Amino acid sequence: MKICPITEWKEYKQRPLVIAGPCSAESEEQVMQTAAALAASGMVDIFRAGIWKPRSRPDTFEGVGIRGLKWLRQVREAYALPVAVEVANERHVYEALKHGVDAIWIGARTTVNPFALQEIASALGGADVAVFVKNPVSPDLDLWTGAIERISKAGITRIAAIHRGFSSWEKSSYRNQPRWQIPLELRRRIPGLPLICDPSHMGGDRAFIFDLSQKAMDLNYDGLMIEAHNNPQEALSDRQQQVTPAELEEILGNLVMRSTTSDDPRFLETIEELRSQIDSYDNMLLDILESRMLVAETIGKYKKEHNITILQSSRWQEVISRAVEEGRKRGLSEEFIETILEAIHQESIIHQMKVMKEE
Ligand code: PEP
Ligand code: MN
Repeated sequence: MKICPITEWKEYKQRPLVIAGPCSAESEEQVMQTAAALAASGMVDIFRAGIWKPRSRPDTFEGVGIRGLKWLRQVREAYALPVAVEVANERHVYEALKHGVDAIWIGARTTVNPFALQEIASALGGADVAVFVKNPVSPDLDLWTGAIERISKAGITRIAAIHRGFSSWEKSSYRNQPRWQIPLELRRRIPGLPLICDPSHMGGDRAFIFDLSQKAMDLNYDGLMIEAHNNPQEALSDRQQQVTPAELEEILGNLVMRSTTSDDPRFLETIEELRSQIDSYDNMLLDILESRMLVAETIGKYKKEHNITILQSSRWQEVISRAVEEGRKRGLSEEFIETILEAIHQESIIHQMKVMKEE
């Protein structure tokens, strides 16, 4: 699939691309005041505001609807800022295009639904807009990839993915779990796809925005979508996570931007040396795994001779507990040890089965 790299997009000046604006357009005054301050900062590339709000519960503010599109058009004209709005169905797309928006985004609650995605893609046709596809609420990489493919097949070339985190039943300080490996895998699947982090919906609290944004920059994300409101305390949606334009300037100003490479020969030499150490440890790990599988096969043969089952859960519990304890002493997390041992165990069973089947 061919996706335009972000550097070919005319709207973007430098990394990070910044999309900012209120969660919801609430009044003409609120939209224009927020946009004026964001435009004056010179740090914002695209102004965002939701006008149709997908709220989890009924009887909450569901957006101002079409009249908000007129305010967005005013922002475009008054401050020369490209504008973006969320769409969730065909009617939203037609209205947004009619009012000349520059970009649309597809929300997390919509990305989960292939019917809605297809409807949006068909309504877009080959329109000249940028499309940002948020991750689905569930940690399902195929749904996210599929949504991007549907938009791409509709002839849209300026597509980016927005990582806003995933719902989880488990309690956590973040509103949505980042699970960073999922967007990184998406970027591996679709090379050149710009990746944007939305620390506002991920953290769910303004206190987390800076750290999450810095982490995204360290992972070489292309941009950030951050909710900014002229008076967050009075916001009609997502009050906790919105920042003022001044706070946004401070957050962006404090970000440390690291480059992916350097021309300094000393740096290159050191990195080369460290990478060769990593390669040699990886080889050692492979050698150890090979030896471990050979032992598993020997055990398999022995069990077969004595007519014993492969799996003995008490023994397996013992292996895990011991390794978790040893891992902890070495600063390795319980989750990591469990994941790696489960995988090794699976492979061991395959090797044992092989010898069990042999005559
Ligand atoms: C939003 O951007 O305001 C929004 C509703 O986001 P999400 O789809 O990430 O919940
Ligand atoms: Mn919001």
